[in-house]
Amino acid sequence: MTSNAPFAHLEIPDTIAAGPGPGNTDARVLAAFSGAGLADHMHADVLRGMIECKLMLRQVWGTENTHTFGVAGTGWSGLDVMFSAVMPGDSVVVFTNGTFSGIDGLTVRMKAATAEELAANPLDPKSASVVIVDVPHGQSVTGDMVEAALAEHKPKWAAMAHWETGSGRINDLAGFSAACERHGTMGLVDAVSSLGVENFRIDDFSGVHGWASCPQKGICCLPLTYAPVSFTDRYIETLKATGTRSFVHHPILEARHWGIIDGQDVEKGTYHRTHSAYAVSAFHEALRITLQQGVPARARDYALHEAALRAAVEAIGCEVTSNMTSLVVLNLPGALRGREMELVQNCRARNFGIWPTLSEPVQVRIGILNLLTREAVTDIALRFAEAIRDLGGQADDETVNAALAQSYDKAMAAE
Ligand SMILES: *Cc1c(COP(=O)(O)O)cnc(C)c1O
Repeated sequence: MTSNAPFAHLEIPDTIAAGPGPGNTDARVLAAFSGAGLADHMHADVLRGMIECKLMLRQVWGTENTHTFGVAGTGWSGLDVMFSAVMPGDSVVVFTNGTFSGIDGLTVRMKAATAEELAANPLDPKSASVVIVDVPHGQSVTGDMVEAALAEHKPKWAAMAHWETGSGRINDLAGFSAACERHGTMGLVDAVSSLGVENFRIDDFSGVHGWASCPQKGICCLPLTYAPVSFTDRYIETLKATGTRSFVHHPILEARHWGIIDGQDVEKGTYHRTHSAYAVSAFHEALRITLQQGVPARARDYALHEAALRAAVEAIGCEVTSNMTSLVVLNLPGALRGREMELVQNCRARNFGIWPTLSEPVQVRIGILNLLTREAVTDIALRFAEAIRDLGGQADDETVNAALAQSYDKAMAAE
């Protein structure tokens, strides 16, 4: 057959997604994606699927917030919807401790900038009403830091990442929420890395009024689907009073297709944009998987397997500086310092997809998203040990296997 197509059919190999994200898409999610029939965005079963997703999302988030739904796209799409309530001139304190909260800070500066401030530096505006509290890479944002900054600035909004994936650090959500409540500030949280990995209920954090996550990390639903978001009534009332300059990413308008109109659940959604039956079907299955196992059980699994991977890499001389349970962020053994990029490139060339940090200092990040079996973690640890040997380092398989066995045995004994 002759073809005018300029390129051959695109082949993309399967890799071990052992990075901070995306996680390994569950086979059930892919089957749902490709098994859905072609149906338009107002088909009764598509609309029913979206309503069911909305109800499942409230369970996954642990909330009774009516405005809980999915934003088509990736984590940044959900965050853009959440930050859409921040208007030019709004006072905001943003806590940053790595790559992603750093971008959240940039987003907030773009939203809060006055027209003059934005025009003066369109890609990196310096907004007088925004205070960035920069916490060094490798450290967590503590409740005391939040308290001190909010007491000083008394802002309308405060923003923080729950889990900063760049440095692998868990920030103090309870402390953040309590400080926001004490100072009448509305908290906004980037929960992109924690939803579906940690066991938490957003209704337990009453100082936080906006939440945004992503499809591809704890929810295991990469085939471009939905970024979960949730907003309190106070957030929605605040937004109603100011409005925002977005149609598609408007929290109130976007919610309509999910059957949320005038603050109420209605039987079926109305048009906001052309949702994909494939995406709805995949997202629906991903949420079913999460709820079938249950968020608390998934969180225990992550903690178990992260502890084993941590023990294995420490046994071969790496220093782990993270405390998240979906990945380890580490420094290579002394003799290999400075060769992090080379090691990561070698692994990636073999479709073993680990990552460097994306901002200074350079470290290695190895993740276990939806790789929650002893076999998968053993495979990752042994591949990593091999990569260290290839650079001339010392890392024998027996040491790795012994450390894994000790960690898993200890967990079994504790049960
Ligand atoms: C991954 C990540 C993001 C960005 O998510 P995308 O899906 O790449 O848009 C934002 N914030 C945090 C904390 C993340 O881990």
